[in-house]
Amino acid sequence: MVTVERVNAREILDSRANPTVEAEIILSDGSRGVAAVPSGASTGKYEAVELRDTDSVRYHKKGVLEAVRNIKEVIAPAIAKRRAYEGDKIDEIMCALDGMANKSVLGANAILAVSLALRRAAAESMGLPLYRYLSNTSIKKMPIPLLNILNGGAHASNNLDIQEFMIAPIGAESFKEAVRISAEIYHTLRRILLSRSLSVGVGDEGGFAPSLESDEAAVEVILEAIDEAGYEAGKTVSIALDIASSEWWCDGSYFLPKRRVRLTSDELCRYISSLVEKYPIISVEDGMGEEDGYGWERLTERLSERIMLVGDDLFVTDYERVRKGAEKQIANAVLIKPNQIGTIRETSLTIETARSFGYSTIMSHRSGETEDTTIADMAVAYQTQFVKMGAPARAERTAKYNRLMKIEEEIGLNKLSNPLAKANYL
Ligand code: PGA
Ligand code: ZN
Repeated sequence: MVTVERVNAREILDSRANPTVEAEIILSDGSRGVAAVPSGASTGKYEAVELRDTDSVRYHKKGVLEAVRNIKEVIAPAIAKRRAYEGDKIDEIMCALDGMANKSVLGANAILAVSLALRRAAAESMGLPLYRYLSNTSIKKMPIPLLNILNGGAHASNNLDIQEFMIAPIGAESFKEAVRISAEIYHTLRRILLSRSLSVGVGDEGGFAPSLESDEAAVEVILEAIDEAGYEAGKTVSIALDIASSEWWCDGSYFLPKRRVRLTSDELCRYISSLVEKYPIISVEDGMGEEDGYGWERLTERLSERIMLVGDDLFVTDYERVRKGAEKQIANAVLIKPNQIGTIRETSLTIETARSFGYSTIMSHRSGETEDTTIADMAVAYQTQFVKMGAPARAERTAKYNRLMKIEEEIGLNKLSNPLAKANYL
């Protein structure tokens, strides 16, 4: 019987120079698993709590030494000698130890780091790649990547209100080809921006962050880049947006902080519909804010037959919130961020719940990332149709895309997930 032998943790840095938690687990057979957790900037109100040190000014009050201490002093003794292959059981023990639904006592960052490191150690112990160890279904397809090549909102200091302008290489025949097409478009976009003397400095997720005339101008310059790179917009490559509109919600309406415009729920819904009308957009994430049930109903009525409507802040990877949303028939896809909920067990439950209601799933990074690639393996293991991991640039982003290309090679699959087959919105 292989058991948990040692649990260690430390404070490391994320891609935004903020501290985050890394956990390390050693099993009785000597197998070892290490994992680090990411951190968001435009976090949803209902996310599990990321514990930050309150009693110290280190790292501008963002230290995670309390979370590290919780792993070493509370979680480690409670899971020592437990069966290493019973990850779900260990996740439950950690949740019970915390005692709060939002994991505010031990910290979701502490709990998730252990949850991930444990699966890594167990996979090594069984001699399996992580995606095989985690998989409870047959692996048939690779996900379609959504690559954020132009950053705005809370992820950049430019004048764009929409947070993420992504490309979706839906016509690619393999993951490797999807990455190549996207990197070519990224370079073409850089060249176009430079030719107009615009900034090619990047935002938090590796996309360019120029100041432009309007948010529409951002979509248009991407369409130009797709065309100039030799691809057909809407056919080979489409556009996906993350509006991240919860960030704009203020006193019952939306205030776009950069344009300094206020929109009612109906006006925002009309604005999004006009973008969908005008451009080859296949997906809109957080079109409406997490508190705006009315807006979500309107947006879903209007667009759910045509495009993917993704709930990020709306669902916060919580299966109960997904179930409630599906019963109200709002949105039609769920963004999956393991650190919004805090364990692998609950993350996979949320994916199952989404699937049971016919909602699409997108495995996602956070804006503050590390070199950890666990989400790449999870996307394949749980067969999410999409992944969203930032630009095809900056090592904390490319680590995930590179891992997915290796997995594709390893399993000898070169079939991309094709939601076309089941949905009529692509
Ligand atoms: P975050 O942004 O990681 O800063 O929350 C990503 C997103 O909103 O999808
Ligand atoms: Zn989002």
